[in-house]
Amino acid sequence: MFQRILVANRGEIALRVIRACKELGVEAVAVYSQADRDAPYLELADRAICIGKAASADSYLNIPRLIAAAEVADVQAIHPGYGFLSENPQFAEICRSCNFEFIGPPHEAIRKMGLKTEAKVIAAQAKVASVPGSDGAVNSEAEAIRIAKSIGFPVLIKAAAGGGGKGMRVCRDEASLPSSIQAARNEAEAAFKNPSIYLEKYIDRPRHVEVQVLADHHGNVVHCWDRDCSLQRRHQKLVEEASASLPIEVRRKLGEAAVRLAKTVGYTNAGTCEFLVDAEDNFYFIEVNARIQVEHPVSEEITGIDLVKQQIRIAAGEPLPFTQDDVKSEGHAIEVRINSEDPEHGFRPSAGRITDLRVPGGPGVRWDSHARAGYSVPPNYDSLVGKLIVHAPSRPEAIARMRRALDELVIEGIKTTIPLHKAIFRHKDFIDGNVDTTWVERVLMPPKAG
Ligand code: ADP
Repeated sequence: MFQRILVANRGEIALRVIRACKELGVEAVAVYSQADRDAPYLELADRAICIGKAASADSYLNIPRLIAAAEVADVQAIHPGYGFLSENPQFAEICRSCNFEFIGPPHEAIRKMGLKTEAKVIAAQAKVASVPGSDGAVNSEAEAIRIAKSIGFPVLIKAAAGGGGKGMRVCRDEASLPSSIQAARNEAEAAFKNPSIYLEKYIDRPRHVEVQVLADHHGNVVHCWDRDCSLQRRHQKLVEEASASLPIEVRRKLGEAAVRLAKTVGYTNAGTCEFLVDAEDNFYFIEVNARIQVEHPVSEEITGIDLVKQQIRIAAGEPLPFTQDDVKSEGHAIEVRINSEDPEHGFRPSAGRITDLRVPGGPGVRWDSHARAGYSVPPNYDSLVGKLIVHAPSRPEAIARMRRALDELVIEGIKTTIPLHKAIFRHKDFIDGNVDTTWVERVLMPPKAG
């Protein structure tokens, strides 16, 4: 096992990794930008190193500074968390060439999966169906029109290098295709410095279902079952559940598909295969997230596996201590993301000082957060303040538990998404499991007329 690990991230996930290190008897070295100087996660690390100014480019996205911190602290491995550099193949490669173990997949696998068009080619090799669409990038208008007609409108134009819900556009007819493509290219160039786009059939009201996988360096690959992340706003997840409440045969097939994909691309460590599921429970691969995800706790709750500790053990060369048959899916878990956002202003991020914070407790309740009373949420980074997770024997009991826990949770001083979650957990459609990826914007918060 490693003696010391650098946590190349901040906030909630930095704390999550520090906690895993403590339980493994590994020293955790935290990094921080000047904006995070007073962040509570630093107090829980064995050491904290300032890596630069508030701007991410000067700190959490700055590879030379992170490598310098790793050298100064004399660590053996680097955990990238999620976001920031976690899916940057160059960072993974540089870590390893500087003799630091990167706690994540091989850089070749990150590179291949980072381009969604390439990921679809690998899915085909693994005999996993993708959403019908173009074979790779679309280079001309004529080609786009031909493909769109063959798969049928509406189509979705997606950025090959896309992520975080950016660079996607629905196009409903041939007439608007050229202008939509141009707009999508501009958006992709601005967001990802890569104007490459491709086409997919736009699946009507799908569910977003994903499968957690773990793969060691000894050829063992297992899935840790499925999560439903259909509740989204602007393609950003709000609520995640495990399991995805699908028939067991479909769940098994999804798990097997994810394992085949991971094996085909030579994946190791933790990762997620994302799928869209239509009304008939057909599933279509959309992409791989080559990192630990925000919503990993719901899979931990139903399987009893500590995914972050497994990531560290895998990186240290240990074989998985269980087989697929040992990974059971028990009960139902739900996570809600508590973001500091202002509902009166289009849910834009709202920074500020938390004046009071009272967290829920009791059976089956977990609170993963770096925040506490007196902490000021800096305006520089994403708006996640904490994750409230519940686990119960069944979905109805988990919903009742989440309602109870949301009522206990008090955050004062900043605006948060708590009222939105309370509305979701009271809504009949959600209780009945009658939701899809368009539900929040279509039913719960339709745009105001005019
Ligand atoms: P990103 O990497 O930007 O998160 P994804 O490919 O994972 O993009 O898609 C994000 C979300 O966009 C999905 O969860 C789903 O809600 C929606 N989406 C993506 N592809 C399609 C599609 N072909 N049809 C309908 N919705 C889609």
